[in-house]
Amino acid sequence: MQRWGTIGLAIATLVAAGWAAWGWDQHQRVTLLNLCLLGAAAVIGVALLFHAVMVSSRRTEELQALAAKLEYSLKALSAANAQLNESERRYKGLLDAQGDAIVRRSSESRLTFGNDAFFKLFGLAPELALGKPFAPELHPESRSPVFGNFAGSGTGYERVVYDQHVRTVHGWRWIAWEDYAIRNGMGRLVEIQSVGRDVTERKHLEQALTAARDKAEAANRAKSGFLATMSHEIRTPMNGVLGMARLMLETELKPEQRAYAEAIRQSGDALMALIADILDFSKIESGALTLQPEAVTPHKIVEDVVELLGPRAHAKDIELVANVAADTPRAIRADGLRLKQILINLVGNAIKFTDKGGVRLDVARAEAGQRQYLRFAVRDTGVGIAQDKRGAIFGEFVQADSSHARRFEGTGLGLAISKRLVEAMGGDIGVTDAPGGGSVFWFAVPAEVVRGARFSDGKRLSGQRAAIVTRNPVLREGLTAQIRSLGGDVAPLARMGDEFAAPNVLLIDAGTGAEPDLPSPPEKTLRSIVLLPAAARGRAQEMRALGFSDYLIKPTRQSSLADRILGQRSADQPVSEQSAGAVGSKTRRSLKILLAEDNPINAMLVRELLRRRGHSVEEVASGGEALKSTDRQRFDFILTDIHMPDMDGIETARRIRAREAETGRARTPIVALTADTVETGKDACIEAGMDGFLTKPVDPAELDAMIDAISEGNSLQPREAAA
Ligand code: ADP
Repeated sequence: MQRWGTIGLAIATLVAAGWAAWGWDQHQRVTLLNLCLLGAAAVIGVALLFHAVMVSSRRTEELQALAAKLEYSLKALSAANAQLNESERRYKGLLDAQGDAIVRRSSESRLTFGNDAFFKLFGLAPELALGKPFAPELHPESRSPVFGNFAGSGTGYERVVYDQHVRTVHGWRWIAWEDYAIRNGMGRLVEIQSVGRDVTERKHLEQALTAARDKAEAANRAKSGFLATMSHEIRTPMNGVLGMARLMLETELKPEQRAYAEAIRQSGDALMALIADILDFSKIESGALTLQPEAVTPHKIVEDVVELLGPRAHAKDIELVANVAADTPRAIRADGLRLKQILINLVGNAIKFTDKGGVRLDVARAEAGQRQYLRFAVRDTGVGIAQDKRGAIFGEFVQADSSHARRFEGTGLGLAISKRLVEAMGGDIGVTDAPGGGSVFWFAVPAEVVRGARFSDGKRLSGQRAAIVTRNPVLREGLTAQIRSLGGDVAPLARMGDEFAAPNVLLIDAGTGAEPDLPSPPEKTLRSIVLLPAAARGRAQEMRALGFSDYLIKPTRQSSLADRILGQRSADQPVSEQSAGAVGSKTRRSLKILLAEDNPINAMLVRELLRRRGHSVEEVASGGEALKSTDRQRFDFILTDIHMPDMDGIETARRIRAREAETGRARTPIVALTADTVETGKDACIEAGMDGFLTKPVDPAELDAMIDAISEGNSLQPREAAA
């Protein structure tokens, strides 16, 4: 527009100048031209000025927008800066407010960062410490590691925790460190960050607790030791009491006196059993129990237990019967003595708490996961146990019914000991209701089957069918189980006349008394076997005369049952049967015996026993005297106490053997008298050259057996106390 204005103005000026110049003179024309030129120049100047003004105003706008933008950016920047400052302050505040010391070190262990707590803890000035190597001073007795080491790159531990006992401004303190490796993108270790917490109080508490625990354990051990010593000390006088009662019972007594002496003996036996329990329990408690696994036969253990306890059951007019299932291995690795101890306890309890019916022991294989177990179950038809008492009875000194204590003797230790033993074997123990009343005590222990072990013969009686005549349901069920385990069959009595189910053997129970109550034997066509309690063993020979084909002593062994049903003689007659009548039947040579014993009551006891058997006894009260005596004269055998004042029995035996070797005189058998074979150590006795040992109180039958063995010149086996 400006441009067009300018051009228009110029043309108008030229037209006006041309028109005017038409009639004008030279001078006028020049003037007009000048004027025109001047006007054009003015117009151009004005246009230029106007243009310049327009341009500059546009620039100003642009500049202003730029300035506004700039100002905005500046504001944002300063806000961000403030935020950053705030965040940094907060972050530092956080680190500094930490009770934990936080520190970062470069890979060359130079300090790159530390929070307030860190600098304060180690008494460092940040401006001096930063950039310098740092490692805390370890306590001289400290075995803790120096800082965690993350050397190298790549995988390795990214976090290490450890405790250090270090010097701080507060003295020696325990610091629990936790170190992290900080790596760059390539996995190279850049820094190590450590966070340390003062755990001195916790350490002290731990140390105090450990000390307290050690003290308690020591006290407990001392207590168990005290208990063991006390039990031992009580045993010595008790041996006197029991021994004397036994001696007295071997004399002529009025019935009244005999009853009293018998009462003393029984009470003494009960007290000794109690002491044995307490000793056992304290041994287990103090951790002194070590199991001694060996190859054992479950069948044999079961037979031993029921034969031992059978008479006790029969005396109460109840039955005891055991059945070992067909798939039970004949050899497992286990501590046989301890297994027996548990069984004696459970079966003994069952007999104690049962007045009618009987007790049945079942053994079978069981599996749990990959493991093989042997499961023992003792079922009785007795008083049973209230549901709410079941958990407690396995604790020590617990009896389910305190009124029992008066009716049934016992300490409440048996189950506690059994439980601990079973657990030590890696097994489990428990109790449930027996169907029809009474209880079932069971336990299962891992059974490592001895390689190549045979299994029970589950086929011996196949094709055999027995009928059982008894009034006692426990016996009937037990015998039925035994026969079935052997592959045989049991005919119901009601079907005796039935041709197809007819039995080929009859088992007739004669009750539990010493005087058998017998039904008349059946017609001869059927084999009939009478079952006698051990107490009626003396009548066994009469049974054939009465018309029975054979007899069996209860509790019946499975192997004997099979033998008799098949009409075979057993090789394994009960031990008691073989040895019955042995005592006193032998004519003995009179021996010259040296007795070394410092306790006068024990000495009297053994002397009397020996004298009554026709031996002559020389008595000494110490090892030294024993040595002198053996130098002076020759003895047929020497009985020596272990604990004697001047020289103990072991040393005495050793010296006697040495003198024999020196002088070339004949070897005299030496037998130790010990209170406790475990305590004395039979190895020590044998090493010292002894030939055997007898436990106190000396059992007359054991003494006889020992003397017989010597008279017959048999080598003596160390004799142990019965389990
Ligand atoms: P003890 O028999 O010496 O008292 P135990 O530890 O062997 O001690 O048994 C603890 C208690 O458990 C017994 O006193 C008795 O009350 C109860 N008990 C154990 N076995 C049986 C059982 N077969 N029938 C009923 N009660 C039993």
